[in-house]
Amino acid sequence: MDKAPEKVLTKAETLKLRQKFVGPSCKLFFKADPIKIVRAQGQYMYDDEGNRYLDCINNVAHVGHCHRNVVLAGTQQMELLNTNNRFLHDNMVLLAERLVSTLPEKLSICYFVNSGSEANDLALRLARAHTHAEDAIVLDHAYHGHTTAVMDLSPYKFNAHGGSGKKPWVHVAPSPDIYRGKYTELNSPGQDLGELYAGEVKKILEEAKADGRGVAAFYAESLQSCGGQVIPPPGYLENVYRHVRAAGGVCIADEVQVGFGRVGTHWWAFQLQGDDIVPDIVTLGKPMGNGHPVSAVITTAEIAASFASNGMEYFNTYGGNPVSCAVALAVLDAIEKDQLRENAISVGAHLIDRLTQLQQKHRLIGDIRGCGLFVGIDLVRDRNTREAATAEAEEVIYRMKKSFILLSADGPHRNVLKIKPPMCFSMQDSDELLNKLDEILTDIECDEPADESAAVQNGTVINGTAANGIVLDGPSASLPLEGVLLKCCV
Ligand code: PMP
Repeated sequence: MDKAPEKVLTKAETLKLRQKFVGPSCKLFFKADPIKIVRAQGQYMYDDEGNRYLDCINNVAHVGHCHRNVVLAGTQQMELLNTNNRFLHDNMVLLAERLVSTLPEKLSICYFVNSGSEANDLALRLARAHTHAEDAIVLDHAYHGHTTAVMDLSPYKFNAHGGSGKKPWVHVAPSPDIYRGKYTELNSPGQDLGELYAGEVKKILEEAKADGRGVAAFYAESLQSCGGQVIPPPGYLENVYRHVRAAGGVCIADEVQVGFGRVGTHWWAFQLQGDDIVPDIVTLGKPMGNGHPVSAVITTAEIAASFASNGMEYFNTYGGNPVSCAVALAVLDAIEKDQLRENAISVGAHLIDRLTQLQQKHRLIGDIRGCGLFVGIDLVRDRNTREAATAEAEEVIYRMKKSFILLSADGPHRNVLKIKPPMCFSMQDSDELLNKLDEILTDIECDEPADESAAVQNGTVINGTAANGIVLDGPSASLPLEGVLLKCCV
């Protein structure tokens, strides 16, 4: 479609109706001047005035907004049939077969659901049925969804303003963030950071056991997204999985944000930790339907048998319907035919490369970490103390928006710029983004000339992470700018 559809409502009218009829806790991006998007294509979104925005945040529109073959697959199936999965239908079984073919052999049984939250909620039920235990270990700052159970698994939410706090059955392990977490290259020189962070999980397992509690599951995003684009150190999952399994628990990899080839080299982000790393359950979502609500839980035959053993049926009205499965199959086709994993490798490398150059110039860039089209830029006020540059990150996002580039920030200090665009993001798009970032950082920094300490102290890239400095756990300075993108986990 070349033209925006005719306006039905003015932006002001839409806003007024939203304020009147939609729950006030449903927040908008850019509260003071929200964007009314009317159409999108590929990596671009268009507002009601016809402005084109470069979309650097929509990992949901994985193969590109409104991908023609995905749209066709959905509409054609919708014209033919849509019903629940108690009828035999080819789409669901073909999708299951196709997904399983991308995963390690052991992960062979699928359940189809409609959102990442539902997938993580079901994963908890599977883990509990298999282990007969109740508790779960999660990573600090994690987000696993919005149902009652998974809100309890999400420190990002239960520790936030208005959150309900940590429940006794939930245990929180430190995020394996080697830049500003508990263990870093600087405070633990020469030590195995993967082992150190895994040791924290082991400690929790021992304490739970001493308290007479059984741990059903260890939940972790394979790369923490809302937690600040964290890439765990090598050996982390291997050690954690060993400890968790020794204690009788199962290991769940949340691939809702980072799966489906976003990391480029692999289909699934947990595979970055080694070919022999195999979770017991994986949860999939967001990119799976390119915007259409479809998600899945994939597990082992043993866990599926435990879940079935009490005789209770699992039925989900929409999960695995023929339309959703047609859409998800078309997404898998597009990833392959459009060579999107290959694109993620080359464009991601270009992003990291150019960001590393910008880091020489801009003292605000503390750390750059990423794999494929999942990249984080940790902005700091001081490279020695690693004080989070929260207000500066907000300023960058606000000014990017004015330049028609959509970017967001996250992490506990909201100072990590997140780049996780549709997978068709090109070299030119990267340059457009980074040229603008260069310009904005130059402007922000010009008030305070860079000093010697701002020089890059250690440019080594470890598993995609440039790591230098010490732990910063103090409160970050926060000067919220009216109208800036909210803390968001999209
Ligand atoms: N897990 C992760 C890692 C997520 O980022 C999200 C959503 N941001 C969810 C689960 C929940 O997915 P949904 O919003 O589709 O329920």
